[in-house]
Amino acid sequence: MNAFEYAEANYETYVDQLKELLRIPSVSTLPEHRGDIRRAAEWLRDHLESVGLKRAEILPSEGHPFVYAEWLEAGADAPTVLIYGHYDVQPVDPLDEWISPPFEPTERGGNLYARGASDDKGQTLINIKAVEALLATEGKLPVNVKFILEGEEEIGSPNAAPFVRAHRDRLQADVVMISDSGLLAPGQPAMVYGLRGMTYLEMIVSGPRVDLHSGAFGGTVHNPAQAIAEIIAALHNPDGSVNVPGFYDKVRPLDPVECAELAKLPWGEEQWHEETGCAKPWGEPGFTLVERTGLRPTLEINGIGVGFFGAGGKTVIPARGVAKISCRLVPDQDPEEIFRRVRDRILALAPDTVKVQVNKVTAAQPALIDRKSPAMQAAARAFEAGFGAKPVFIRGGGSIPIVALFQEAMPGVPVAMMGYGLPDDSGHSPNEKFTLANFRKGITTSIHYLKLLAGSD
Ligand SMILES: [Zn+2]
Repeated sequence: MNAFEYAEANYETYVDQLKELLRIPSVSTLPEHRGDIRRAAEWLRDHLESVGLKRAEILPSEGHPFVYAEWLEAGADAPTVLIYGHYDVQPVDPLDEWISPPFEPTERGGNLYARGASDDKGQTLINIKAVEALLATEGKLPVNVKFILEGEEEIGSPNAAPFVRAHRDRLQADVVMISDSGLLAPGQPAMVYGLRGMTYLEMIVSGPRVDLHSGAFGGTVHNPAQAIAEIIAALHNPDGSVNVPGFYDKVRPLDPVECAELAKLPWGEEQWHEETGCAKPWGEPGFTLVERTGLRPTLEINGIGVGFFGAGGKTVIPARGVAKISCRLVPDQDPEEIFRRVRDRILALAPDTVKVQVNKVTAAQPALIDRKSPAMQAAARAFEAGFGAKPVFIRGGGSIPIVALFQEAMPGVPVAMMGYGLPDDSGHSPNEKFTLANFRKGITTSIHYLKLLAGSD
């Protein structure tokens, strides 16, 4: 029996094991689930050990722990792949919208419903099962393998940076594989090769010492709500481009070949209308919608809090207000430099009638992976073997901080984002599901990938 046949023969057992893991309510953000987080970590450690991995252990961090395991007997000439996943999940509310209980995995219509089914316990187990099938049938793996499983992904990986730096040597690898994303559509795999970075800041505008009577002081005080509006309005040009000096300086010019490939993606204005419900597109001129969300940087106002917005009216001049502002960044923009540039622009716009303060909230580096590298091409061939379709290569609009952390710890390492979820899997919503057919095909794909990395498929 080969690894593929073994995985097929044990498929029902694998689904049962996934259900076992899904019954543990490992919600990372809620303190009352601390013990469940620990149980999920222990379950995975024991499981990794039971399938034949070595040095399976729980590694503490400043927050929830990481789970580590390895198998390094493929030899020094064989590549080493670091496999990342996460075992924490999002909270489940609103609970009454779940058709079956979130921590009682239930099969319906070829899907497995439970919190974490797709994000990310199901996808994490896919790669463990691929390793199990290879070890059980061949007694060895074609490549060296390290697993690193996180318990704080859903709360923004607050302790991942010091953890990755502290364990840099142990995590060293030639390739990183992350299964925490999805197919573009059923039957159409996708590989994300670019992620935008982020600079997040807040602006605090203060006027009078206390809220004032607008009858007594209106017309003499520069209202902080108005000052915020004036500053924010000046951060974009009328055409939708960002009006911050130097903001675009380090942005790479678009590669026409890449743009031609992206133009073939089955996503455009029609899908955009469907997903947003907006009247018409807005944004930087001269770029398609796909280019604007993947290849171009942006500046967004995420929230403005100032003054009175209860029922009825209150004639007040608010004393202060806050605006939350974030920038999505692309290579080679530097999050710290962009923070300084936006801050300086805001301070230059600030009138001397109010006090303006700008604070940095978070910063994350953008990431771009060479889609032509052998590791990425092997991933593409593995998808083709597992799903019968070549993956499309896409640039993600979002940010996954761990990717940039791995790239910082291992400069130049390719990161293959091989995801098996579907856009309607409801990752953070009620009735999260995982398509069991994709669980099955994912295991096949993962086995192919490990073999292809070694050149033995
Ligand atoms: Zn996830």
